Amino acid sequence: MVNILSDEAIVLRKSLSGDYDVSLTVYMKKYGKENIYIKNGQKLKSPFIYATEPFTWFKAVFIRRKEKFFIREIEKSVSLGIQIASDIPRFTTAYSITDLFNRYVIFPDEKIFVLVKKSLYYLTRTSSLDVFTANFIAKLVLLSGIFPELDRCVRCGSPVNRKNFKIISMQEGGVVCSRCSRQKPYYGYGVVSDLKKLRVVSFRDLDRIKLSSPSSTESFLRDYLERSF
Ligand SMILES: [Zn+2]
Repeated sequence: MVNILSDEAIVLRKSLSGDYDVSLTVYMKKYGKENIYIKNGQKLKSPFIYATEPFTWFKAVFIRRKEKFFIREIEKSVSLGIQIASDIPRFTTAYSITDLFNRYVIFPDEKIFVLVKKSLYYLTRTSSLDVFTANFIAKLVLLSGIFPELDRCVRCGSPVNRKNFKIISMQEGGVVCSRCSRQKPYYGYGVVSDLKKLRVVSFRDLDRIKLSSPSSTESFLRDYLERSF
């Protein structure tokens, strides 16, 4: 059965196959993670050569044959990879977000597609890479529907603020007040206030927010994702 369909895709990984061919791992807006095989894709005369580098976004007409995707025609493409690769910290950040994505995103999800597309675009222009990375993971957690409860104690339900905050519990998925826990906090209230900002900030305003402890917030979010999946 052969289908012709139109979709957007983001190149996550490119691998060479033999002397001439290319295999791409992409995330497609409607179809999710797929492999695309491009015969003669390494040759300079390949019509798709400009769209096969990692972090390229493209819109194309695809042919699906026996559950395999092939490109028929690329209508539009933006190679963010070139801009990202010119700066090593940005390049490393791009790999770290696609790595997270490879580990935790399995199903097709248009909202997550848009998150990755926007993230790569803003990665070329952000001035604060640590806020950028924390924001990416926070939005991934948010879209996965598992964002921690930050306003009320997960044990007794009473409002939690800086004064009565005790811990943020990964197992219970949120903050615990000082009446409910005697445990020593591993993550301080700084992480909670950072998460509150990341919960609502838009990409456009990312460079305008200040996080009080971006590296702790990032490590909290990474641990939290790992435990939730
Ligand atoms: Zn409580």
